[in-house]
Amino acid sequence: MPTLFEKIIAGELPATIVYRDPRVIAFLDIRPAAPVHILIVPNKVIPTTDDIQDDDASLIGHMVIVARDLARQQGIAKSGYRLVINCNPDSGQEVYHLHLHLLGGRPLGPLVQRTERNG
Ligand code: 5GP
Repeated sequence: MPTLFEKIIAGELPATIVYRDPRVIAFLDIRPAAPVHILIVPNKVIPTTDDIQDDDASLIGHMVIVARDLARQQGIAKSGYRLVINCNPDSGQEVYHLHLHLLGGRPLGPLVQRTERNG
């Protein structure tokens, strides 16, 4: 079964696309968690970070470069932003097609709730 994101890449599902090139697509998250919430998604089907192969390194790096450029375009490069990739159930990953969240436009608060002390 193709994921929602494969359908967006194929043009079978609508999305607000903000960037596209031969390797990645970027579109607005349908349920934004911040004023800027963009998903950067590789065209190649990679379900999770655990499925990334060594020869995907250039693609993964490209996703971060695209995120950097989109952050500049959105005017949040200096105020700050967060890049997030969820992997598998404990992270709350919802769509099993690798994607990088670009979040910003307000103070984002702590990354996760701190529950215990290391060391
Ligand atoms: P995950 O939890 O897998 O890291 O993030 C999946 C993200 O995809 C969520 O933030 C969710 O709001 C977003 N999302 C889910 N379905 C759709 C959709 O059909 N269109 C768009 N644009 N975003 C979606």
